Amino acid sequence: MVDDVSSYIDDIVSMIGEDAEVEREELEKEFRRFLEYGVPPDQAKRTLVKKFSNGKKVEFRKLSEVKPNESNVNLLCRVVTVNPKEVKVRGEPRKIFYGLLGDETGVIPFTSWSSSISLEKGDVVEISNAYTKEWQGVVQVNFGERTSVKKVEDDRLPEVSHEPKPCKIADLHTAFGEVDVTVKILDVSEKEVDVNGEKKKVYVGTLGDETGKAQFTAWHDFKLKKGDVVRVVGGYTRFWKGIPQLTFDDRANVEKVSKEVEVSYKPVPLHKLVERRGGLDVSVEGTVIEVREGSGFIERCPECKRLIQNGECKVHGKVKGVGDLRAKLVVDDGTAGIGVIVGRELTEQLIGKTFEECKRIASEEGGEAVLRLLRERLLTKRVALRGNALGDEFGTTLIARDAKVVDLDVRKEALELLQKMEGES
Ligand SMILES: [Zn+2]
Repeated sequence: MVDDVSSYIDDIVSMIGEDAEVEREELEKEFRRFLEYGVPPDQAKRTLVKKFSNGKKVEFRKLSEVKPNESNVNLLCRVVTVNPKEVKVRGEPRKIFYGLLGDETGVIPFTSWSSSISLEKGDVVEISNAYTKEWQGVVQVNFGERTSVKKVEDDRLPEVSHEPKPCKIADLHTAFGEVDVTVKILDVSEKEVDVNGEKKKVYVGTLGDETGKAQFTAWHDFKLKKGDVVRVVGGYTRFWKGIPQLTFDDRANVEKVSKEVEVSYKPVPLHKLVERRGGLDVSVEGTVIEVREGSGFIERCPECKRLIQNGECKVHGKVKGVGDLRAKLVVDDGTAGIGVIVGRELTEQLIGKTFEECKRIASEEGGEAVLRLLRERLLTKRVALRGNALGDEFGTTLIARDAKVVDLDVRKEALELLQKMEGES
């Protein structure tokens, strides 16, 4: 006879969630009835979970879908590694466990704060009611007192490889879990940060390879120097608006290699950039197909730099505006289009007019005249641009740090097009 009914009931409660409209007593009554009829306890449990989850099955999430700051997270995964650790919680020593969980989509670090959960390396487990946080830039799963973990059959999940994935900077957006990259350090500086009230030194900078650049944060002093070529095995990536950031700590293996790595300054095709959402210090080329409203001579609030309309700032009311010049472009290279924001000095260079000249045109003929001028000078021109590209729900926008109109060898391009068409026919 089953003598641990209450642990089955605990499981059911944790799987259907605490807001389910059923009393524990009722669950127990139904559960015992199943047993009386000879139903195996596991099957009884499954049936009850199904019945009281409002018809919705417990959804196990893939690790690659897990985001920071989620609660009630249910996972089916394998314990890749597990280690004990002594920590102090409000001055009291406490034993916790940390390690890695994996499924076929990747691996993710976890920390178990619960005293009742025991885990073995290699176990396939169903985890209910876990929660997630972001720690040093990486999503992490946490087990608390409400979390339950149950070992299930091994074959519920394919074998998980947790080897760091070898990849190039341009592929980081497709990597999940630990990566293995060989990169050149382009710059590095030391920074002090505050982690839960404790001062910690981190090393931040940029690195790159022949496919692109990324920012990095090292939580350990690997003695990285500008110009070093290093192989980092066991770093994680995250993205801010499509800009890749590699994070690694003392668990990563970082070693200098004698191989030469050329960092790319070649233009990235725009569809690639859009697919990656953004990029750090990228070069692109394309044709200006639109000069947007809001380009040209504009006035900003002297207090907050916001654009002002009819001499009024949204926040500071009537103000004496400070003039500025900018261009908001749409640039397309035939594979995709991106937005481009060009600041005052680069706009002056692109249109061959100074800010003062534009200001005079605006005061004599109105702001529209400057916008018309920008359109005359820039539309259909081919431009080479460099800067950070940021992605959001509206698309990808490059903040130009460098911009120039490139002379287009029309004949050469026409010839290439002709050859391409002939090749296709
Ligand atoms: Zn203002």
